[in-house]
Amino acid sequence: CGIVGFIGKEEAAPILLDGLSRLEYRGYDSAGLAIYDGKLGLQVVKAKGRLKVLSDLTQDGATVHGTVGLGHTRWATHGEPSDVNSHPQVSENGRFAVVHNGIIENYVEIKEFLQHKGVTFVSQTDTEVVAQLLEYYYDGDILNAVSKVLHRINGAYAFGIVCADCPDKLVAVRKDSPLILGHGDGFQLLASDVTAVIKYTREVSYLDDGEVAVLTQEGAQVYDAYLQPVEKERHHVDWEI
Ligand code: GLU
Repeated sequence: CGIVGFIGKEEAAPILLDGLSRLEYRGYDSAGLAIYDGKLGLQVVKAKGRLKVLSDLTQDGATVHGTVGLGHTRWATHGEPSDVNSHPQVSENGRFAVVHNGIIENYVEIKEFLQHKGVTFVSQTDTEVVAQLLEYYYDGDILNAVSKVLHRINGAYAFGIVCADCPDKLVAVRKDSPLILGHGDGFQLLASDVTAVIKYTREVSYLDDGEVAVLTQEGAQVYDAYLQPVEKERHHVDWEI
């Protein structure tokens, strides 16, 4: 299972597919992409099976356009491996796309709460509650919505989040699952581990448990669980892959 995210000036899809291929060693049963483009909106392509299925579906990324997006390889824990249970998971109105590694322990209770509010679920995953809950709490400020979701969920997680309302940002969150940031000149990456980013940059920082990062083309701002800004040390990776 793995996560990759990119925000920059270049087409995201080939970079995300390349990053996912470097995370294949972690094991997975499905793969997917969510990429935002100003004209096309949020495009989600995902499928059960090898990364090759996703590459073929998108002609190696050529059919999905945009310079901000997320990629995911899934190791199913809740919901069988299937196209609909693959990530990204998307909120009902299509505003939020979420990739997740880990487990949301109290997802049944949250799912029932949202269903009573009239939200329709399409997957059997624990992850879909996070996309739907982001939409439920969203009041125009993505960071507020993320913070409210984090206070509501229990479990282990690394998330990548993209929102069609603010496509100049990518959000990364982690607790008890790995997630690192890669810092480039005019682009930023997030990934489950350094191997997925060092083709593009060797400047990385390591998110600590409970931290939330907001990535833009220009840089990354990290916050603690109470949304107070924190200074992160940057590291230079000098080993080869
Ligand atoms: N629990 C989530 C699911 O089954 C994420 C699994 C993973 O870590 O890939 O969809």
